[in-house]
Amino acid sequence: MNRYPEPQPKELVHGLADLYGLPPDMVLATRGSDDGIDLLVRLFCRAGRDRIVICPPTFGMYAQTAAIQGAGVVCAALEGNHGFRLNPDAIRLAVGAGAKLVFLCSPNNPTGNTIDSSQVLELCRQLRGRAVVVLDEAYVEFSAGKSLESALPTLDNLVLLRTLSKAHGLAGLRCGAVLAAPELISMLRTIMPPYPLATPVVHRVLAALQVPDVERRRQQVRRIIHARERLARWLSVQTWTRKVWPSAANFLLVRVDDAEGMLAWTAHGGVLLRDVSAQPGLENCVRVSIGSALELRRFRAAM
Ligand SMILES: *Cc1c(COP(=O)(O)O)cnc(C)c1O
Repeated sequence: MNRYPEPQPKELVHGLADLYGLPPDMVLATRGSDDGIDLLVRLFCRAGRDRIVICPPTFGMYAQTAAIQGAGVVCAALEGNHGFRLNPDAIRLAVGAGAKLVFLCSPNNPTGNTIDSSQVLELCRQLRGRAVVVLDEAYVEFSAGKSLESALPTLDNLVLLRTLSKAHGLAGLRCGAVLAAPELISMLRTIMPPYPLATPVVHRVLAALQVPDVERRRQQVRRIIHARERLARWLSVQTWTRKVWPSAANFLLVRVDDAEGMLAWTAHGGVLLRDVSAQPGLENCVRVSIGSALELRRFRAAM
């Protein structure tokens, strides 16, 4: 521990490259996807001048990171009446007006739906030379769809964000990856702090990337998907449920009679749900994460 770590520990980058099926020069090891979002916004957006596009309702860190950098945020809202599908026209319009980065999230947090791969690829082709499309795949392991990893080598304005925090259950380690064209990865490296990944973290991640461990977590993901579908069925027949959206992630978006009352009541029973009701189109909605069997029993009992 008396030595500094490598800025991008070689074994770690190779391990992540193997995990995601890409050459190592297309992988940047980060302190989780939040770190990747921050690096991308700082690389592409000048304070007071440049803008990003987000598609709400979505993950809060894109707009928050832009606000810290002094970048503008343009909203191209998902279509709430159509299962939260993407609105590519609104995105193209925002980029036409000068936005530099487009943040897409699939499966999306907190709505749980996926974006068609063909739509993402078409957007990348149309925006080439003008904007970079960042696809946040934090929950892709829980979905039936595939990562867009294989499209990366042919699209130099597509960036993927992956993390060990969700399906790998290692949120406390703070490790993830930006996957992109080698030129973009080298540019991101130039604005990174010199030693972002602590040596014990690197050792622990390398251990977690061993095949038996990865296989054990794949089984865990299958159990979570099974529990998600069971909980969705249970929720859908409760009198206080108005709507349960289909989910390709490890959580469910639920509209209830009275979200505020439900949050207070479950908190009283020691269960914390995520209040997402302030997001556009999500009135009276809560996000329920798929926890352990015991946690889910406690949630059902509390309700
Ligand atoms: C949790 C989450 C992240 C951040 O994950 P870390 O790798 O732990 O920073 C990024 N994007 C989405 C959509 C998330 O839900």
